[in-house]
Amino acid sequence: METRSNNEKIREVEDVFGRLSEQGHEMPGRATILVVDDEKDMRDSCRRTLSKDGYLIETAENGDRGLQIVRDVKPDLVLVDLKMPGMSGMELLEKIGDVDPKIVSVVITGYPTKESAMEARKRNAYDFLPKPFTPDQLRIIVKRGLSQFIKEEKMETELIDEKKRTAKLIDGKAVAQKVKEELKKEIVELEAKHQSSPLLLAVQVGENPASTSYLKSQKKGCEEVGIDYQVQQLPREISEKELVQFIKEKNEDEKVTGIILQMPLPKQIDAEKVQEAIDPKKDVEGVNPQNMGLLFYGWPGLVPCTALAVMELIKSTGTSIKGKQVTLVGHSALVGKPLALLLLSSEFDSATTTVCHIATQDLAAQTRRAEILIVAVGKPGLIKGDMIREGAIVIDVGINRVDGKLVGDVIFEEAKEKASMITPVPGGVGPVTAAMLLKNTVESWKIQLGFDFRADIKWRMD
Ligand code: NAD
Repeated sequence: METRSNNEKIREVEDVFGRLSEQGHEMPGRATILVVDDEKDMRDSCRRTLSKDGYLIETAENGDRGLQIVRDVKPDLVLVDLKMPGMSGMELLEKIGDVDPKIVSVVITGYPTKESAMEARKRNAYDFLPKPFTPDQLRIIVKRGLSQFIKEEKMETELIDEKKRTAKLIDGKAVAQKVKEELKKEIVELEAKHQSSPLLLAVQVGENPASTSYLKSQKKGCEEVGIDYQVQQLPREISEKELVQFIKEKNEDEKVTGIILQMPLPKQIDAEKVQEAIDPKKDVEGVNPQNMGLLFYGWPGLVPCTALAVMELIKSTGTSIKGKQVTLVGHSALVGKPLALLLLSSEFDSATTTVCHIATQDLAAQTRRAEILIVAVGKPGLIKGDMIREGAIVIDVGINRVDGKLVGDVIFEEAKEKASMITPVPGGVGPVTAAMLLKNTVESWKIQLGFDFRADIKWRMD
């Protein structure tokens, strides 16, 4: 029996919102509501009523289109008609639950039966609104559904606070090992088939302890997977012209399949000029302008190793970047920019990518939005726990030495209480970058063996 007026019911639901927001849980100010109904009049009238209440409205004329919007937009609430051509409302309810069980679904139907109501409940529908309904009935049911959404969010937050989330470590060493094992097999197969071997030549100008230690680890990596490795040491006084000439000779040397130029170079040499001289097919660091240009067009050939390493680490988490809010801090030519292009390289599956840098104002506002946060700056302590979104994936590229210890740009102890997954420093991006150098060395060899430059790089986009 109807005992309360519609106005009373609306007030009651608004009370729930009020109490929840007093407890620090704001109503999703501009909640997004999706209306899936094959009748245009119904879609239009729901849009008219609900947009007056300030909601953002999306509409779909069938289940397939509705599901697409659910995946792309993640609405807070979906109004689902049961009888539609193609995918039925029942089927759609189930699929919405698969995308995100927190999305509230409300059934709107011209054929209300007890059985269909029960069936819809089983498929996670929150409520059931028989057609025809008045604008007020629609407003009440939507507000009630959204208050349910806020309650669930609140419970989830409390649960997280209770447990003091400890992020799962993304194990860079394990990811690198897997890449190396695959390379080892591939090299054996290709050598047998083509009677050829990959050879990486490292060019070092003058002496430098950091670069010498890097040479040692390159040698070890190459030995592990079966790549021949040579170091060419050149005198510190060498001129830029002589160095370019040396590189050009090695470009012509068929035995050398990959060339890496060790940094730093002495002052008299412009690194970019020498990188430009490396044959793009032997450019295992992806620093030649031609390779950078290919990356711009979304058809990368050889790509800077650290950018590839970050993509590989994200892939290892099983998370798709498609449509995700990814915030990248750092826009260097070697890490940030190529990475931004990789994140945007797929026509339909790219991430929603934000790139921050030294001039970014209110960095925290950008990092807090990120479902995936990547930091490549070189400033220890830059990213604090309160700058990280609850449940985010955090990839810390930074390498800094503080009190004799290696640390990243993210305060790990704080971040692990907020993030769902995080890379450690050391043991995160570093080992995978080293593995990607080996991968690029094999890629460059394959290009020289005649493999299709473009078809063969699909793995990067998967
Ligand atoms: P870089 O100095 O070339 O670029 C630094 C970037 O950080 C720039 O885009 C700059 O605008 C930005 N930046 C500086 N201060 C900032 C601030 N306060 N807020 C926001 N952005 C800021 O450095 P890089 O070569 O890109 O390297 C970045 C870090 O990654 C370094 O610590 C480096 O050692 C490390 N790194 C690690 C690997 C690895 O394999 N793990 C590989 C390459 C670089």
